[in-house]
Amino acid sequence: METLVRAMGSEGVLAFACVSTRLVEEARRRHGAAPTAAAALGRALTASSLLSATLEGQQKVTLRILGDGPLGGIVTDTTASGDVRGYVQNPAVHLPLSNRRKLDVGAAVGRGTLHVTKDLGLRWPYHGSAPLVSGEIAEDLAYYLAQSEQVPSAVSLGVLVEPDGRVSAAGGFIVQVMPDADPGARDYLEAHVRALPPVTQLVQQGASSADLARAALGRLGAHILEERPVRYRCTCSRERVEGVLALLGAEEVESLLAEGRAEVRCRFCGEVYVLGRQALQELLWRLRGSRPPVA
Ligand SMILES: [Zn+2]
Repeated sequence: METLVRAMGSEGVLAFACVSTRLVEEARRRHGAAPTAAAALGRALTASSLLSATLEGQQKVTLRILGDGPLGGIVTDTTASGDVRGYVQNPAVHLPLSNRRKLDVGAAVGRGTLHVTKDLGLRWPYHGSAPLVSGEIAEDLAYYLAQSEQVPSAVSLGVLVEPDGRVSAAGGFIVQVMPDADPGARDYLEAHVRALPPVTQLVQQGASSADLARAALGRLGAHILEERPVRYRCTCSRERVEGVLALLGAEEVESLLAEGRAEVRCRFCGEVYVLGRQALQELLWRLRGSRPPVA
């Protein structure tokens, strides 16, 4: 089972780390994502998992990366219990490798805005946003955390896509320096994180989420505070699909009924729900508040 860990180092620093290979491969497969799209979606899914590390109970975080590049928007959300799901608007996008021979996520995402919405069970959800600085997602999230949430952070995200298109390694970490942290610790972390090998290399070598947290904090040490499971899981269901159709109104449902069936595909997981004549008729009766005639 893949996990997310929350760890504390000395000198007032925190780390959140996650190995997400299976989770990202599942997303890649469900959406049939091409390599560049899979890397971008995988980084966003990993980022949203990391952002969920401090959530509890029914709380949820949604990350939206809305760039003007060919990928279109990327939307991911994660619950406190570790259910992660997400989609990219144009999963078929694949760009030539960048001049550093890497998947060019930055060009595929483009310029735009990163939005974070946290449903903390309060009356209004918390919302913050920041402009995308590179479209590479890790840098964008670090900028957002520093600017919008005022927490200086280093973020590393990685997704390795094999020549056959499968995701063979994925993971990431966020390191945060608390306001009362020793300034020396901050300088050390900056240099240390920059000198680390790519996350995907550590994951390929068999690193666990806790190992990633330890690697990220280096000589500041990592005391693991919590470890919780993460997996790709969608909350869609037949009932929810019927609920969405009901919102369209009786007239729309009637015209679907005239066509004989309705097919709804969940954007988050690709599941297809087919409602036949019987289901649509029952929905229509419910919307009109009338009962079927007794035979
Ligand atoms: Zn779904």
